[in-house]
Amino acid sequence: MLLIECPWCGPRAETEFSCGGEADITRPLDTEKLTDKEWGDYLFMRKNPRGVHREQWMHAQGCRRWFKAQRDTVSYEIQGYETFDRPLAVMSDDVAKTGGTSK
Ligand SMILES: [Zn+2]
Repeated sequence: MLLIECPWCGPRAETEFSCGGEADITRPLDTEKLTDKEWGDYLFMRKNPRGVHREQWMHAQGCRRWFKAQRDTVSYEIQGYETFDRPLAVMSDDVAKTGGTSK
């Protein structure tokens, strides 16, 4: 189980969260001028990297707030968290070691 640290509530089990997918996707401003391919790319095309990835998470069974996490998709290690008004806070070694995967 993955231990995720909500920026407001602290460390909680992964089951309390809902993943919102890739972070930093901006909705195009003038959607009427987009081609079908450009609109489809915006809606459906996502990166699927092997390695560091930025994701959106919502603490669905807690404060219900959205935040971003930077996670390594190979090791599942969460490297830091970011709220929409606060830049990435890199995790301390203690939290990173206990907040990684445990199987
Ligand atoms: Zn929370």
